[in-house]
Amino acid sequence: MKKILITVILSLLLLSCGKETPKEEVEQKFSLKPMTTFPAFNSDNAFNYIEKQLSFGPRNPNSPAHQLALAYFETEFKKFADKVTLQNFSYPGYNDETLNLTNIIASFNPDAKNRIFLCAHWDSRPRADHDKNPALVNKPIPGANDGASGVAILLELARILKEKKVQIGIDLILFDGEDYGTESDLQNYLLGSKYFAANLPKDYKPAFGILLDLVGDKEAKFYKETNSMMYAPDVVDIIWTTASELNATSFSNLEGEGIYDDHIPLNQAGLRTVNIIDAELVGANSPDERRNYWHTHNDTIDNIGKETLKQVGEVLVRIIYSIEFTGPKS
Ligand SMILES: [Zn+2]
Repeated sequence: MKKILITVILSLLLLSCGKETPKEEVEQKFSLKPMTTFPAFNSDNAFNYIEKQLSFGPRNPNSPAHQLALAYFETEFKKFADKVTLQNFSYPGYNDETLNLTNIIASFNPDAKNRIFLCAHWDSRPRADHDKNPALVNKPIPGANDGASGVAILLELARILKEKKVQIGIDLILFDGEDYGTESDLQNYLLGSKYFAANLPKDYKPAFGILLDLVGDKEAKFYKETNSMMYAPDVVDIIWTTASELNATSFSNLEGEGIYDDHIPLNQAGLRTVNIIDAELVGANSPDERRNYWHTHNDTIDNIGKETLKQVGEVLVRIIYSIEFTGPKS
């Protein structure tokens, strides 16, 4: 993902596309019903899921580790989900390389009309643009936080969803090719979410989606992301209110910067999606040297904090298990 002068770009998009969300989709109402007990989110499991991904090596497209990780996610999701779909596609990469990419969709209650989705990117970056060591700049990064952290939380949620059934439909979507593009080349970012948005499953009308990216740093700060505020302010409100009730201190009620991430093509396709992202990391300009590892070889397990994984996981568990639909579909 990349920081972006989003107001300019989005104004242009809005001007050119007109109204993007069909009216019937925004009429569906939902709220969180009061509940006191929820399944436990196990942050040790989530942490182990990050380590497992790192054990394959960098998961950049067409690498051996990319293949191993794909097989692993398919196997894990098949243990937990009602239905697992692999959405394969190829894409013309740099230097005449054809990328073999796959989005992975794990569905719970696949026939339920009232549904939400949670997503993250599973690929890791093929280069380390911000690494201080020039010899390492063209080598793929580990992606412990940038990629693996979001996936790990979704895998732990899948385990929970198998153990304690929900009434609504849930789709956990792992996008491929998010981090492929070079810095100046936005067109070659977000490959999986762009493909998904252009090839939506038939009649796919989830109420909303939540995108996780950079969700594992031990001192994470999740500001309200600007584009999410514009496309789905009610969903931002549900997430940050829940975080506040849980005293999940990594969530800040301040509005942060706009990020060009997988939620952009999804929102443009009418799937209202909020990005939970530690946007201060993006750009690797932090005054805190330890947190200055974005798109470098220092994006390792050492930066990951179980408390952060737990806070994000618990917020999501609360939303999943207490959401009620009162709109036209219910
Ligand atoms: Zn990245």
